[in-house]
Amino acid sequence: MEDQNINEIEKNDDAENEVMYSNFIQDIIDDDLRSDRFGNRVHTRFPPEPNGYLHIGHAKSICLNFGIAAQNRGLTNLRFDDTNPSKEEDEYVESIKTDVRWLGFDWEDRLFYASDYFEDLYQYAVKLIEIGKAYVCDLSADQIREYRGTLIQPGKESPYRSRSTEENLDLFKRMRNGEFEDGSRVLRAKIDMASPNLNMRDPVIYRIMRATHHRTGDNWCIYPMYDFAHPLSDSKEEITHSICTLEFEAHRPLYNWLLETLDVECKSRQVEFARLNLSYTVMSKRKLLQLVKEGHVRGWDDPRMPTISGLRRRGYTPESIREFCSRIGVAKGNSIVDLALLEHCIREELNAKATRVMGVLRPLKVVIDNYAEGLVEEFEVPNNPEDPDAGNRKVPFTRTIYIDQEDFCENPPKKYFRLAPGQEVRLKSAYIIKCESLIKDEKTGEVIEVHCSYDPGSRGGNAPDGRKVKGTIHWVSAEHAFDAEVRLYDNLFNDPNPGADENINFLDQINPDSLEVLTNCKMEPGLKNAKPGDMFQFLRLGYFCVDSVDSKPGTPVFNRTVSLKDSWAKISNKE
Ligand code: ATP
Ligand code: MG
Repeated sequence: MEDQNINEIEKNDDAENEVMYSNFIQDIIDDDLRSDRFGNRVHTRFPPEPNGYLHIGHAKSICLNFGIAAQNRGLTNLRFDDTNPSKEEDEYVESIKTDVRWLGFDWEDRLFYASDYFEDLYQYAVKLIEIGKAYVCDLSADQIREYRGTLIQPGKESPYRSRSTEENLDLFKRMRNGEFEDGSRVLRAKIDMASPNLNMRDPVIYRIMRATHHRTGDNWCIYPMYDFAHPLSDSKEEITHSICTLEFEAHRPLYNWLLETLDVECKSRQVEFARLNLSYTVMSKRKLLQLVKEGHVRGWDDPRMPTISGLRRRGYTPESIREFCSRIGVAKGNSIVDLALLEHCIREELNAKATRVMGVLRPLKVVIDNYAEGLVEEFEVPNNPEDPDAGNRKVPFTRTIYIDQEDFCENPPKKYFRLAPGQEVRLKSAYIIKCESLIKDEKTGEVIEVHCSYDPGSRGGNAPDGRKVKGTIHWVSAEHAFDAEVRLYDNLFNDPNPGADENINFLDQINPDSLEVLTNCKMEPGLKNAKPGDMFQFLRLGYFCVDSVDSKPGTPVFNRTVSLKDSWAKISNKE
């Protein structure tokens, strides 16, 4: 973590001001403010392509763009980078807006689309042709690649490079008018086929593509390339710092060339940072789309997905994601962040906030033979020991209860402090019980019922004679509990770096046990009216939230957000 230099120096409730970033990007901004490069302005943008749902990597970029602008009293635009109609859809636009807002950021009235600039971009291309800096090229895609050369070999000039301005203007106009087939011609910037930077070897800036655009319909059959549209869109919006991921570093000369050659007024500055990679996670939109389309997960918002919508449904909060983004910081070198850190962030928040409740995942019936039939006692259980204001609630207790199968063992190992034949255990906030006998399924031999006695003097959980009972387990009253579905999640992938090895298909690294659905869990009665999105700590089992899609009024479905075991705290304590 050391080289990811970030210092938290201020905190308040406003998402955009939550964290003060002290990093190399702030240093660049400081320099530009000092040298008056953009006057007093700092203006960033978050530029998603609407070809998928946002993921946790995007959250890093969102927090950075909105965060760093806000801390410099600047502004941030949301701009859809919709220059490739073949993959883009309105559904994605809407989901992206929802997710950015949910994360706590506000673009106010500054929502833009690169497609709004298609006419301007076209005019910029015409201007390049007019000043002899662009030409229509008839080479095929394969030929263009071949002519481009390699890192060690210079490229070869296209035979169409010397076309006259008039011919280029005419052909480009006819490209726009739909006179040529898809892929038959392109417009290329005329830069330098011998440049050591491959991106400068006459890059393609316009292509012919008959695809209906989600906003401009069939108005266009030529579309600008990202490398052309992006700097010019930045400049139009008077973006000062165009923050992007590291793989665009080698595109920066082209970015600058376009702004200089076209002599635009605002010469935005591209700044690169390392993208977020997370262990046991794939982050490429292509791969995420494949997981969805091929049904490996139940949609973009499947709680196992690293998408913002998946994390939300899983029970992550905007605060926990912003906290994660601030902890990982911003660096110049690529690395893989441990998924345990993300889990640690939500655990820490829910530990402070979540109401403690009791639910039994795999029920085992326990009958307390010396407890009066028909008697119902109510026990006060603390809602959150971490929060003195959280108060208590009453939980009903009766003769027949359920405990978790895991909390009983017929032949216990040494130091097993839960329920076992002849052994005592404390029922949380209720009584101490002792296992007296078992009833087994005749065929399978499985224990199906445990008979116990209780110590009437142990009301609330303490032995009257001060004898030690080490174990405390959770329980629910059989008569009062209701059945619910609970979904337990594990990492979606088995491999810490899925897809890294090109010889292995990332789909083969999917964890077959990433989802476990339990259908007859027993819940304490107060949970029956829990609302979608409500979050709880199920005692000893983890943090859970009510599923926002499959729950119905009176029938909540629970997702386990995370277990209680904090492997991150363990790692960081060791260090
Ligand atoms: P693709 O994987 O299809 O290339 P992308 O992930 O770059 O797409 P965009 O919609 O172009 O998706 O991303 C929007 C912004 O989010 C870009 O500025 C991009 O740099 C940033 N971004 C995307 N992935 C990450 C990541 N893993 N970490 C940090 N920033 C990211
Ligand atoms: Mg991209």
